[in-house]
Amino acid sequence: MTVERFTTTWNYPAQIRTGAGRVRELPEACQALGMRAPLLITDPGLAQLPMVEQALSGCREAGLHCAVFSEIKGNPTGKNVLDGVAAFRDGNHDGVIAFGGGSGLDAAKAVALMARQREGLSLWSLEDVGDNWKSADSDAIVPIVAVPTTAGTGSEVGRASVITDEQARIKRIIFHPRMVPAIVFLDPALTVGLPPSITAATGMDALSHCMEAWCSPNYHPMAEGIAVEGMRRVRDYLPAVFVDGENLEARQHMLVASMMGATAFQRGLGAMHALAHPLGALYDAHHGTLNAVLMPYVLKANESAIGEPMVRLGRYLDLRQPGIGPVIDWVLDLRERLGIAHTLAELGIDAIQADKVGQMAVVDPSASSNPVPFDANQYRDILISAVEGRL
Ligand SMILES: [Zn+2]
Repeated sequence: MTVERFTTTWNYPAQIRTGAGRVRELPEACQALGMRAPLLITDPGLAQLPMVEQALSGCREAGLHCAVFSEIKGNPTGKNVLDGVAAFRDGNHDGVIAFGGGSGLDAAKAVALMARQREGLSLWSLEDVGDNWKSADSDAIVPIVAVPTTAGTGSEVGRASVITDEQARIKRIIFHPRMVPAIVFLDPALTVGLPPSITAATGMDALSHCMEAWCSPNYHPMAEGIAVEGMRRVRDYLPAVFVDGENLEARQHMLVASMMGATAFQRGLGAMHALAHPLGALYDAHHGTLNAVLMPYVLKANESAIGEPMVRLGRYLDLRQPGIGPVIDWVLDLRERLGIAHTLAELGIDAIQADKVGQMAVVDPSASSNPVPFDANQYRDILISAVEGRL
């Protein structure tokens, strides 16, 4: 089978251009959105790689005045966003190319959101609480083209960015319904160089998005359909890309699964993310790895409320028996095949700050759509189970 048949363009949930080599169309995509001087935002590691250089030279050859901003951390901070906004204004830019993994995409989307807002509107005032987003001017958000280079966050189709508030030492979700990139490239050739460990961790993040969306109690049947098919793709293709990173077909399917996860979680996330956000802020651990480790413990803790969706999931994934037990067994087996730890202790996380993490988790925006409304003590107990490996 050739991979050419995966070269397509979809107009849902944004304009999605799939297929190996599609990123060559980046200059035309920028022009289609009216950009003449895009700012390409990426992380410092990627900025050194030929793929960024090629994207830049392609844009310049097409007559675009393109510059790069790459001063962002693995968990991007409020300062990173402010610096990006300053670079955007100093360079008279008129759009953003969001290029990279979750950090690059999230930072770039936040810069695009803030680039032309009125003076005095702070980034944190747009935290995803209530109707905060309405205080931003929708028309001041500059256009975004997104080029993900990992398959996990799905941030290329997400309406939010996760940004670390360095003063408060917490991750805040910055939300606006119009911060979704207008054109997205899902080009698997950009992901073939990812090492297996990052492939595994990011792929498990995609699974956690689908899984939490699937378990959410909110009424959103379209998101349910997308979530369950996203999980089927992770089942079929994540082990394949882990053992053979150059499998373009499997890479393409994982990019799509990642996008599906982020599309599905408009239905809501849950306790995996409510815990992974504070743990990421306090321990600077990889977001996808945290979700992967937490997944079986959270499923177990949610058991009383997810019986029916677990039966349907087990049927769809063709597990030996439908129900939560076989789903957890499948997750444990997948994690093991991907070389992912079973306990948070293996990531260097202990239970010393468990009370604090519990209090942070209960107020995390992701907590509101967990199937069981855990209190801070229950979050603390899940964390301790995950540190100690008690399932
Ligand atoms: Zn996530």
